[in-house]
Amino acid sequence: MAIELAVAYNAVRQRLLERVIAETRETGHLTGCHQLSEAVLRALATVPRHLFVPAEQVDLAYADRPLPIGRGQTISQPFIVGLMTELLAPDAEAVVLEIGTGSGYQTAVLACLARRVYSIERIPELAETALQRLIQLGYGNIEVRNDDGGQGWEAHAPFDGIMVTAAAAEVPPALVQQLKPGGRLIIPVGDPHQSQDLRVIRKNERGVVETRSVLPVVFVPLVRDRG
Ligand code: SAH
Repeated sequence: MAIELAVAYNAVRQRLLERVIAETRETGHLTGCHQLSEAVLRALATVPRHLFVPAEQVDLAYADRPLPIGRGQTISQPFIVGLMTELLAPDAEAVVLEIGTGSGYQTAVLACLARRVYSIERIPELAETALQRLIQLGYGNIEVRNDDGGQGWEAHAPFDGIMVTAAAAEVPPALVQQLKPGGRLIIPVGDPHQSQDLRVIRKNERGVVETRSVLPVVFVPLVRDRG
């Protein structure tokens, strides 16, 4: 039974991947990203999204859409997870920071690619559930902390890449500071009650910051508890 189910999930996950590939191609003229790399596709093909959603959402786990995960939060749409991961492009040596662990799904995708992933979630129950889930699934290269991520994670900085999976009214300066030269910050910026602008902020080797707008997106708000 368990094996049959695993095979069934592999088949629906493959169909989802085809949808994500098509959507990436269709939006390529806006995003500049026409296709996902083999490594990102492999990560999306590996992470069992049905284990990151609440039981009542399992039937929709492989639909290309965001889903509620409780506490008014959502697990991101797979196409957006693929796009943001591709824009971050962590290599096997990368140390990455994620703000907004949520379900831990994006954390797991990053953990397939990077050397180490640090993730911060402000809602204690979500942080705890995601951490337990990621440990159970065998992701050994992650650390999850319950806090306001707007200040970054100074102790592990600088980072090769930082990904924010909640809508920021403005780019938190601490996150830009904690980027390595050559590093990238992927962040939705704008009014949290409307759509936001997904941005790629790159710190070049001389420490100069360049920003590129990629796509209108809709995320839950990045809530500031500190500073
Ligand atoms: N990456 C997640 C998406 C979760 S939605 C996933 O794949 O499931 C965004 C998450 O950001 C929510 O869980 C929300 O609680 C969290 N969040 C909002 N503001 C935050 C902040 N200042 N610091 C850390 N997490 C924050």
